Amino acid sequence: MSQASASVFVRCSCGRLHWGRYGAAGLLLADPARGVLLQRRAWWVHHGRTWALPGGAIEAGETAVNAAAREALEEAAVPVDAFRAVAASVVDHGDWSYTTVLALADGAEARAANTESAEVRWVDPDDVPGYRLHRDFAAAWPDLRDRVGQELVFVVDAANVVGSRPDGWWRDRHGAAERLRDQLAKLAEAGVPDPDDPAVTWWPRIILVVEGRARNVQSVPGVEVVAADTDGDSKIVEVVARQKAKVLVATADRELRRRVAAHGASILGPGTLRTRLDEL
Ligand SMILES: [Zn+2]
Repeated sequence: MSQASASVFVRCSCGRLHWGRYGAAGLLLADPARGVLLQRRAWWVHHGRTWALPGGAIEAGETAVNAAAREALEEAAVPVDAFRAVAASVVDHGDWSYTTVLALADGAEARAANTESAEVRWVDPDDVPGYRLHRDFAAAWPDLRDRVGQELVFVVDAANVVGSRPDGWWRDRHGAAERLRDQLAKLAEAGVPDPDDPAVTWWPRIILVVEGRARNVQSVPGVEVVAADTDGDSKIVEVVARQKAKVLVATADRELRRRVAAHGASILGPGTLRTRLDEL
């Protein structure tokens, strides 16, 4: 009859007690004009009076993103539609884990909204170390600081990725590109691992560059389709060059890899991408 409560301490193999049977999550909300949203914990909660992120225990069946959004709403009155989750950074202890959900806000309102929260404040990221921080947040902050305000743009060379598997795509290039687009839309929700840090997953903005007979494929939520009039490779380089964010490009074309790497992009091989898409 009884459902195990998520709001308990867990004795962890690291030797410490942690909050949340199913782990815990917090929201790192960044607003370009105001900084990051910190919360001062009420005096009576664990690690009271310290500053940290809005967050708490993950409930049974809840994703880390859902939990972070729910806690930010309950504790700081941040509306769930006022931000876009761009990445998750996980500290995994085996018996317990903490997920920081990095999100971008544009004008989101916030205020101390329940009794666990004494105050919420937008803080310049450079000023964060000057606050009296919760021990775990203080330890995580140097890595998180580097990711504040970042996002990942994933640019996919449609012709190259479609052509990487001999499944009859040449009979219907338009249909094959549409199938790839629809799989990528699922990937936009599921996320992609950071090329350099396995603890980080991004929910990328995805740009699919199409050409030739696939030119009229339309965009869908999660995937922006860009058509090349003539040369697909040059269009991909152009798209990569205008991004301010971190860029990942999916192609096996060696010359194109060289050209986008010159703009700072990382590379994902079509085989690795197709394997990931097959898992979705
Ligand atoms: Zn632990």
